[in-house]
Formats: sequence, structure tokens, C-alpha cells
Amino acid sequence: MPDKIIICQNCQNSFVYSEFEQNRDAREGKPAPIYCPICQSIKEQEARRPAKPKAPML
Ligand SMILES: [Zn+2]
Repeated sequence: MPDKIIICQNCQNSFVYSEFEQNRDAREGKPAPIYCPICQSIKEQEARRPAKPKAPML
């Protein structure tokens, strides 16, 4: 499997989905990433954070 270039669905930057990552994800049954590593880490942090209390807009 050659390396693939994927366009991030969030920031539209292209990033490399390497052969190593493709093999690893295939083994773990994960789909190909749709976000670049930067956006992925941001989204992981957001997911880990507890729900924000709704602050009134002042
Ligand atoms: Zn991105």
C-alpha cells in the first residue's frame, strides 16, 4: 500500500496517511482518518473535556 494524501475535513490541509498508519488502522479495524493530526488532537482534547457549562453571552 503506498502512502496516501488526505485532505483534512476541518482545515483543508493535505497530510500524509502513511503505509504504516494504513496497516495499523487496517489491523485495528479503524477507518482512514478524515482530519489531519493537528485537528485530530484538537478534537480528541475537546472530546476528553467535560461538557462546558453554558455561560451566558454578555
Ligand atoms: Zn486539519
